[in-house]
Amino acid sequence: MPNTPELIDAVKSYNPDIDIAVVECAIEFAKDMHEGQTRSSGEPYYTHPVAVAGILADMKMDIGSILTAILHDTLEETQATFEELEKMFGKEVAELVDGVCKLNRIESKTIEGKQAENFRKLLLAMSEDIRVLLVKLADRLHNMRTFDGIKKPEKQRRIALETLEIYAPLSERVGVHAIKSELEDLAFGVLNPEARDSITKRLSFLRKEGTVVVDNIIEELNALFKESGIEAEITGREKTRYSVWKKLQRKNVAFEQLSDIMAFRIVVKSMEDCYAVLGLIHGRYHSVPGRF
Ligand code: MN
Repeated sequence: MPNTPELIDAVKSYNPDIDIAVVECAIEFAKDMHEGQTRSSGEPYYTHPVAVAGILADMKMDIGSILTAILHDTLEETQATFEELEKMFGKEVAELVDGVCKLNRIESKTIEGKQAENFRKLLLAMSEDIRVLLVKLADRLHNMRTFDGIKKPEKQRRIALETLEIYAPLSERVGVHAIKSELEDLAFGVLNPEARDSITKRLSFLRKEGTVVVDNIIEELNALFKESGIEAEITGREKTRYSVWKKLQRKNVAFEQLSDIMAFRIVVKSMEDCYAVLGLIHGRYHSVPGRF
């Protein structure tokens, strides 16, 4: 459960000069305003905005974002007014909170395809200050993490779909990859829990077999390129359950054949190096026929 001291510590850790009193004041204000309200889990409501602020603190966001997160539901869900927020926390924060509130208001029906694209554009355009959108995304993430409280299956489905179609792509768009992956994974678990379980099992089987060896391969590649005097920056990752699932559907491969579970990115300085690196990799590893 998120708590106040943890949030304060997190904020202090990357911003030692921060005025902690104002953060505490915002938490007190949210606590007072949301008094008597509870989350569907039964927890007092203010734990939600504090947790949302915690997500943003993990991203080392500025004090304005942290305060906005703590206060993000006060305008909409409580008696608090814009003027009050402005007086206590300044115009900037009041406007940010108002911005989040506006985004919440246009949250609507389930949207797919072209409409989803338009809706994403609208949300982006309405977030004149990108922090508004970041608070909104962190809000959605915390709501998805605490999804169990939602009882009606139709509502669960609608929220999960919206998360997948709107908020995950938006997270990607604004560069918060960690939020995108987690949103996708959580929504996937709601929409298709059996598939997600099967992929989890398959991945842990492959891991046990020693097939998932991202670090070893990076090391191998580094050595390989060094021998040839090529400077390259290599990053690698294990694919997420949801991206594995998307691939399975796209390629229509059987589950037992699922082996494409790692991805690497190699950045070199010139086009010559790029082709040289490709040659080296093909010399060392077999390519899958028909897939290169
Ligand atoms: Mn909220």
